[in-house]
Amino acid sequence: MEVRDPLPGYQGKIRELLEKQGARIGSRIRIVKKPEVYIEGLLMPKHSFSSPSTIVVKLDNGYNIGVAVDSNTRVEIIEEKVRVRAPEKPIVKQTRKELPRIKIISTGGTIASKVEYETGAVRPALTPEELIELIPELADIAVISADVLFSILSENMTPNHWETIARRVSEAIISENVDGVVIAHGTDTMSYTAAALAFALQRLPVPIILVGAQRSSDRPSTDSALNLIGASIAASRLPIGEVMVCMHATPDDSTLLVHRGVKVRKIHSSRRDAFQSINDRPLALIDPLAKKYKILNPRYIPRTSSAEELIVKAKFDDKVALVKAYPGFQREIIDFLVDRGFHGIVIEGTGLGHIATHTLSSIARAIENGVAVVMTTQTLFGRVNMNVYTTGRELLKVGVIPGEDMLPEVAYVKLSWVLAQTRVPTEVRKMILTNYVNEINPIHTAELYPKWSW
Ligand code: GLU
Repeated sequence: MEVRDPLPGYQGKIRELLEKQGARIGSRIRIVKKPEVYIEGLLMPKHSFSSPSTIVVKLDNGYNIGVAVDSNTRVEIIEEKVRVRAPEKPIVKQTRKELPRIKIISTGGTIASKVEYETGAVRPALTPEELIELIPELADIAVISADVLFSILSENMTPNHWETIARRVSEAIISENVDGVVIAHGTDTMSYTAAALAFALQRLPVPIILVGAQRSSDRPSTDSALNLIGASIAASRLPIGEVMVCMHATPDDSTLLVHRGVKVRKIHSSRRDAFQSINDRPLALIDPLAKKYKILNPRYIPRTSSAEELIVKAKFDDKVALVKAYPGFQREIIDFLVDRGFHGIVIEGTGLGHIATHTLSSIARAIENGVAVVMTTQTLFGRVNMNVYTTGRELLKVGVIPGEDMLPEVAYVKLSWVLAQTRVPTEVRKMILTNYVNEINPIHTAELYPKWSW
């Protein structure tokens, strides 16, 4: 029989404190922090993402708050277990058949979790009914079908997961004939998956939108509802046949930006507007109230006219490494990868595409052994140019492939995709330098570089 944890998410000292009082999820508790803090409410389960030193309490006004616990904190039980009622089942029925049809595929992360009121478990909340219960606005945007594919944190994604997601998306396009696809994903590695899908699924007849949340849906400051609304508008209405990322444009809840999946990065660990396009303009702006979009980048790939044109190449080689160049880099790192049978290495080089001169012999050896080596830059903005300094020229001479203005992670995903199709060095070079889905931007204008205003 399944034994339910009475205190999911609580560990260590805090767990002991709660256990000592006989508290379990749903107990009405009072937290006393001398001298002046008294908080009363229902003990709530915790996400694995929340801070280990807090107790989460649902206040009578419905808000959940996290209370930091220190050595002066006391917990008292007021009532052992109050039955917490789940919200009534929604009466909203999706009858608006004239609306576009979208598929929401959940892979995990903050956006896809909700606390189950009855059991206290944290689980994906992605049946269409639950989604509409949580975000009623969705029912006016599209007719939704939803699947839970995985429930993982995105740091645990692998190239195998990319393949599975790509296959599920292609099924939704080909067999279910949807007008757009939304993929709920952890934000940490969302841009890797976006790049993987962009290479795996080309000539798209519908938009594919990845979406995540920086704050979970049980927090008042959550961004998950607005992001899902924005992603659903984007997936059901944009004329763009690309893999994209839709997230907050600003820290408030007014607008969302849609970024090209191969030109975007999470550049802040916690802000709601953490995602920014790099070396390219964002593709579109979404106004969630008006349910409208505005195209910001005319250089987009339009939707193809039929699902028959879709190209699916969803294989990735997992023997590829992404290594960062830094002062003190030891060339044994390259030797190790070669000796372990890796097929490709992407270097996140310094500046215009450099790595210390003493690594040159190891890089030459890697290439002689058939390992493809691609150079990118850790400056993120700008393009590698390996003809300017001797270091760059020598790297080119031994056969390093310059990665243009591709983000290091995009070059990593692309090399993994290329190597799953060919290991012939001349072919690999040709494919890395081919611009498949605008992962290379040939023209950088000054406005692409963000600036402070002062
Ligand atoms: N680190 C986790 C992830 O990327 C949770 C945070 C999030 O969803 O953004 O999946």
